[in-house]
Amino acid sequence: MSLNEQWMRRDLATLWHPCTQMKDHETLPLIPIKRGEGMYLEDFDGNRYLDAISSWWVNIFGHANPHINRRIKAQLDQLEHVILAGFTHQPIIELSERLRQITPEGLDRCFYADNGSSCIELALKMSFHYWLNQGQPQKRRFVTLSNSYHGETVGAMSVGDVSLYTETYRALLFDAIRVPSPDCYLREEGASWEEHSLSMFLRMERTLAEQHQEIAAVIVEPLIQCAGGMRMYHPVYLRRLREACDRYGVHLIFDEIAVGFGRTGTMFACEQAQATPDFLCLSKALTGGYLPMSVCLTGETIYQAFYDDYSKRRAFLHSHSYTGNALASAAALATLDIFESDQIIERNRPLAACLSEAAAPLADHPQVGEVRQTGMVLAIEMAADKYRRTAYPWQERRGLRVMQYALRQGVLLRPLGDVVYIMPPYVVTPEQIRRIVQVAGEGIDRATR
Ligand SMILES: *Cc1c(COP(=O)(O)O)cnc(C)c1O
Repeated sequence: MSLNEQWMRRDLATLWHPCTQMKDHETLPLIPIKRGEGMYLEDFDGNRYLDAISSWWVNIFGHANPHINRRIKAQLDQLEHVILAGFTHQPIIELSERLRQITPEGLDRCFYADNGSSCIELALKMSFHYWLNQGQPQKRRFVTLSNSYHGETVGAMSVGDVSLYTETYRALLFDAIRVPSPDCYLREEGASWEEHSLSMFLRMERTLAEQHQEIAAVIVEPLIQCAGGMRMYHPVYLRRLREACDRYGVHLIFDEIAVGFGRTGTMFACEQAQATPDFLCLSKALTGGYLPMSVCLTGETIYQAFYDDYSKRRAFLHSHSYTGNALASAAALATLDIFESDQIIERNRPLAACLSEAAAPLADHPQVGEVRQTGMVLAIEMAADKYRRTAYPWQERRGLRVMQYALRQGVLLRPLGDVVYIMPPYVVTPEQIRRIVQVAGEGIDRATR
């Protein structure tokens, strides 16, 4: 038995894996990873895989990055963790100061949690609680876009709309107001992204006009609905949304958990719309893909609505055990160091152009409905009918076939349904981009034959 097989057996005897029908592993090998270095993951049999999806969108500067490693090791000998209520520490203070500097003006307060879903929960609670503290308890509903994804906890699922993840639990969820997404894959032929996004905004405007008195906040994933199949839209939607939220007295929550930290071509996606949210949720790449941590940034107006004598009972009494973990803070500080010292946003531009150029020919593939891109995210959507953009029956699991082929070629891809996407760490080279695109194209060929 190979080493891979030995580890796989031990694993399958006791683990239950995330987002997996475990029976699949009767036929799909589980891949035990022994080590990672830069763009590569290496299994116990010595096979290497190019990580084209940043290990689920978290890793941006490669595995075992020397700078991040060094900073975590140094922190480890100083302080690993301390309760953040009543206590504080140097890395969390420095991190908060730096986040405040690099995010849009007005986002001056950092509230930490330990994963993306918890960050969404706390943003929803904070918005609701703000209105309560303002004497407006009727503002307790949330508006979300169709096809959005905000995490797996019950509140986050309630404002989500990817039925694969939420439908089963429908009975447990609170009732959010769903507005059709500006998703530009669904635009009419001949319409630009901007035109489509603008016309879809009318539905949002109408909802806010009619129901703003009962609405606490609108929550959106800026520019890319990632888990919903890397569906993209134009920044003009966010600009209009900001104006409308101001007009109707509704909070705006930007979930930049997946798109923050350079993914869309700017440090934060909202910069492209010059729109500042009331709550900005960040996680995933925040620690360079090393440790779980999330942060919700908000402004002074919100903060002041909770600031009072204890006996007034207006405080935000929300916490997680690992809030503001010192090792995660060190990893986040190291990550921000690299953004600065290596001028990552500028350096990503030619990489994004390379991705675009390499993948352009795939648009002509007879079973590809669209190749779309925003910054360092490129998606290729397979379609049963290229021109009508109809999907294959989901039971055919064509994306899975692409994934299996890619793994045999030493590339880690993990399509979302029929959407094959490339979302690499920023340390990817042009040669590696071309290799990933080539393997994706071959996989699509085989999966659609
Ligand atoms: C991943 C993700 C989340 C949830 O984060 P977890 O850390 O997995 O709980 C929330 N929102 C978006 C947009 C995400 O991509």
